Amino acid sequence: MSEVFNVEEIFGQNVFTLGKMKERLPKNVYKEVVKVMDHGGELSMEAANVVAMAMKEWAVENGATHYTHWFQPLTGITAEKHDSFVAHPDEMGKMLTEFSGKELIKGEPDASSFPSGGLRATFEARGYTAWDITSPAFLKESGCGVTLCIPTAFCSYTGEALDKKTPLLRSMEALSEQALRIVRLFGNTEATKVTASVGPEQEYFLVDEKLYRQRTDLMFAGRTLFGAPAPKGQEMEDHYFGVIRERVGAYMKDLNEELWKLGVTAKTQHNEVAPAQHELAPIYETANIAVDHNQLVMEAMKRVAVHHGMRCLLHEKPYAGVNGSGKHNNWSITTDNGVNLLDPGDTPNENIQFLLVLACILKAVDTHADLLRQSASDVGNDHRLGANEAPPAIISVFLGEQLEDVVTQLIETGSATSVKEGGKLLTGVKTLPDFQKDATDRNRTSPFAFTGNKFEFRMVGSADSIASPNTTLNAIVAEAFCEAADRLEKADDLDVAVHDLIKEYLTEHQRIIFNGDGYSDDWLAEAEKRGLPNIKSMIEAASTITTDKAVKLFERFGIFTKVELESREEIIYETYAKTINIEALAMIDMAGKQIIPAVVKYSKALADTVNTVKAAGADTSVQAELLGEVSENLAAMQTALAKLKKVEAEASAIEDVKAQAFFYKDTVKAAMDELRAPADKLEMIVDKEIWPIPTYGELMFEI
Ligand code: ADP
Ligand code: MG
Repeated sequence: MSEVFNVEEIFGQNVFTLGKMKERLPKNVYKEVVKVMDHGGELSMEAANVVAMAMKEWAVENGATHYTHWFQPLTGITAEKHDSFVAHPDEMGKMLTEFSGKELIKGEPDASSFPSGGLRATFEARGYTAWDITSPAFLKESGCGVTLCIPTAFCSYTGEALDKKTPLLRSMEALSEQALRIVRLFGNTEATKVTASVGPEQEYFLVDEKLYRQRTDLMFAGRTLFGAPAPKGQEMEDHYFGVIRERVGAYMKDLNEELWKLGVTAKTQHNEVAPAQHELAPIYETANIAVDHNQLVMEAMKRVAVHHGMRCLLHEKPYAGVNGSGKHNNWSITTDNGVNLLDPGDTPNENIQFLLVLACILKAVDTHADLLRQSASDVGNDHRLGANEAPPAIISVFLGEQLEDVVTQLIETGSATSVKEGGKLLTGVKTLPDFQKDATDRNRTSPFAFTGNKFEFRMVGSADSIASPNTTLNAIVAEAFCEAADRLEKADDLDVAVHDLIKEYLTEHQRIIFNGDGYSDDWLAEAEKRGLPNIKSMIEAASTITTDKAVKLFERFGIFTKVELESREEIIYETYAKTINIEALAMIDMAGKQIIPAVVKYSKALADTVNTVKAAGADTSVQAELLGEVSENLAAMQTALAKLKKVEAEASAIEDVKAQAFFYKDTVKAAMDELRAPADKLEMIVDKEIWPIPTYGELMFEI
């Protein structure tokens, strides 16, 4: 019998929750914390000192020796620099641990080595981290022992955001402010805040550690750069929701336990489409906490895998020709008096409000489809979006049959009087339809689907932070709310004005609605006719964040300054170039040191055999044919390797980051493909005993 644990007992064990603060803080300090958490502002230094003391006591009681400001630089992952609680011993040699309010709320990590896109000259190394009081501190157990982690925002000395959290928090404020204006119009005077909620479904692959270590590409690039298809892939559809293998099950059990202790509500787990591919989904929560927690999920997935003799691959496309990994970002907006603005609702008022919100979101997504697509791009995701696999790179919205019918009627006649399916709710306005929420999602090919009471943004990459997609969603919807509120607040007859606005928005932006098969070629042609952007790669999407339209949007709501956006565009090019550079170098290494030498060895063995067999007077045609095929592909590999080395050197010499990134995409990647093709053919011919690296079959099935 394995060790028994009680979920209720361990949940949040490693989190300095509100409950623990209430227990450990004097009432007035606790109240101050809650006030700042709910409504912003700064904690007084006296209160910060008291909180720091209590937090340290709790952490030390639980074995913590160090603390760290945990932040999210533009690398897409998290960063931490540990400081111990150790202080000067007294004259008797006794040491009392220390942690002040100042250390809690502000840190100054040497920031010169994080991407800043020119925002902070490298000699000006100072950046600072500031406590995000809305995301609870937690204890991380790792090889380092126990560390108190304080979620923080990371800014330059002059206040520019150098991270993913700062703009996200700014976007949440903007959305809250503008959404409040909308709910006020409908008589909601109680709400004081509107919050974006997010539930990200995380996909991942597992691979045996011993096999992983034999693959330079997996170790350095996180994906395979060579590899012929395995005899069996996902065609039998026997893995999705299949019985979870023992070893994977044991991994999931430990992973859940670790996440629950960290207060992450790991809820659903199952096998995914590809062999050795799985998914974990937590219960949705406030956007910035969901973003932090998703980082913890990704970290824990990797850490726990090592304990089980496996590695976790978060890359969007670890294996060519097999289903890749993404992250479905479920998003909704809720008032603090409990109204989900994406829920069609129970009262006439909520129903009209819902239609207005829906119209605003359609307008936002259509107006800023380019930004939304950009927010979901990362290097690995280029292998999914618009490449061999869905979702497509074109943004469109799926509404479901019933809702689409309502929208069509509204556009065509200005009123919708019938409802496709059964039961209904009253809108109280005769020109607006009565309808019921339709939670069935019949379209898995849509990048942005309405699923009953939330939108599911399915483009996000599995390895990427979900901060950018949510920052973008919040920003574009805040803008649409703001423009609607500007008009409606001035209206003499609100009912008529709302009705007209809904009709106008739906009519103007109906091109973004698409309920058909997003994977089909017909859709590509149709989308082009509709004028919807089809941005094929991460670096082609990069400039969308510095268009006049984007700068106007982000500056208007104080989410990004133009300078911040320009720096982020530059970082995208840099990241892309660096990543492809690593991939190219890993290929050069494997081809030159492993694959070509092995093939040379095999061709020598073949040639020797030809001679021996010939000497014995037997037929050598098979051996000779094999030798011919091997030699031909070997020569192709050698030529392609020389070419890759050449273009790789050319790429490294390009100074302009944008030009460099495009050169990597257009020239270096093409050379990589040329090198891979003959190698994958050789893998199918060369003696298995001689082939130097584990095959796709082994990587995906030996787990
Ligand atoms: P699927 O059918 O795509 O697997 P689920 O219904 O299981 O979807 O939900 C997937 C994710 O969506 C979960 O993380 C869940 O908590 C989240 N979710 C559910 N309702 C909401 C909501 N109102 N807002 C945001 N996320 C939500
Ligand atoms: Mg989903």
